[in-house]
Amino acid sequence: MSQIAIEEMYAELGISSRVLAFGQEIEQKLLPRFAEIQKNAEYNQLKVIRAMQKCRVSAECFQSGTGYGYDDIGRDTLEEVYANVFHTEAALVRAQITCGTHALAVALAGNLRPGDELLSVSGKPYDTLEEVIGIRPSRGSLAEYGVSYRQVDLLADGSFDFPGIRAAIRPETRLVEIQRSKGYQTRPTLSVQAIAEAIRFIKDIRSDILILVDNCYGEFVERQEPSDFGADMVVGSLIKNPGGGLAPIGGYIAGTRQCIENAAYRLTSPGLGREVGASLGVNRDFFQGLFLAPTVVAGALKGAIFAANIYERLGFKVVPDGTEERHDIIQAVEFGTPEGLIAFCEGIQAAAPVDSYVTPEPWAMPGYDSDVIMAAGAFIQGSSIELSADGPLKPPYAAYFQGGLTWEHAKLGILRSLQRLAEKGIVSLEEL
Ligand SMILES: *Cc1c(COP(=O)(O)O)cnc(C)c1O
Repeated sequence: MSQIAIEEMYAELGISSRVLAFGQEIEQKLLPRFAEIQKNAEYNQLKVIRAMQKCRVSAECFQSGTGYGYDDIGRDTLEEVYANVFHTEAALVRAQITCGTHALAVALAGNLRPGDELLSVSGKPYDTLEEVIGIRPSRGSLAEYGVSYRQVDLLADGSFDFPGIRAAIRPETRLVEIQRSKGYQTRPTLSVQAIAEAIRFIKDIRSDILILVDNCYGEFVERQEPSDFGADMVVGSLIKNPGGGLAPIGGYIAGTRQCIENAAYRLTSPGLGREVGASLGVNRDFFQGLFLAPTVVAGALKGAIFAANIYERLGFKVVPDGTEERHDIIQAVEFGTPEGLIAFCEGIQAAAPVDSYVTPEPWAMPGYDSDVIMAAGAFIQGSSIELSADGPLKPPYAAYFQGGLTWEHAKLGILRSLQRLAEKGIVSLEEL
């Protein structure tokens, strides 16, 4: 039997020869950059394997704990592995941490006390943190517990406002938050180098100020993490980068022993801390996901760069631009109209292995102040290390595109999105 040509398979998946040829042309030009990304993946893969060997990960670690979860060797070893990977004293990596927002809330609430001030030095924090902090009044917020909040915006070019930071630090400033990734903003993502500089600057002013980095979407993009440069805590979600697509839930906090203990007392209970929290069968997925994470992140990065170059050529504003160095796996594309944003998300959805036949619709999401459209045909619900796109239905109608467990799937998704925009007459294939 003759095999089907790859062009024919693309055609069956809804990609015209015109769109495919355009994609191949863009891909060819990106091959040298892709090779660099693979080099980083190799480095980070070795880092993870080295940590797993050092911590003597064994088949016993994959057994499932129930009940209180005392002495869960898999959970405890996993936390040791995370601490090794992030070069911190300790880590809290739990299924009981429900998401990234929860991990951040636990890290903040566990380490702040009434009368303390939280200072964000990277401008407005991620949308869902507004309610955690109490920027938008919310029941149970840090504000209700007497923690005040201030922020120093980034400068127009996306760099830290060092004089502004110096002026904002007061005796009650207890914790500084730095958000690595842009989130739902169009500012540039901060490099680990830039974050390292800010950490040094702040610690020089007052060494007792705790520094927390919201590390979401940044893990394994570079060879070093903010914790390599003195961050007291790095925090993220396991259904993003470090879960490698296999973690079905969870979050992590890696940092100093003191900070991690404080967070653990908040997550479970004063007095109990890290000693409780049954692993309920997720250990193997957590280990295996972390093992895969460096190469999964590499595939997602290639997809992000591919998307940037495709949409830049079509005249849309993309952040980061097609040539910029990468510090996270998110790609923003500004469509300027709701129709463009919606068509893009429809295309991503149509390329998915799961739920490819459903049409994403904008809806009101808890934690967000406008309708949000989300495209995700994921094995793990809501996972954004899997190929996904989302964006708030408000100007500049930017789609935030991320993930792809494999580069090949990311490529298909981006081509399908382009096809959808062409079908709707938003872009003209004749100009390609
Ligand atoms: C995703 C994200 C969060 C919140 O994580 P959830 O798992 O969605 O709660 C916080 N900060 C940043 C920068 C993020 O990207």
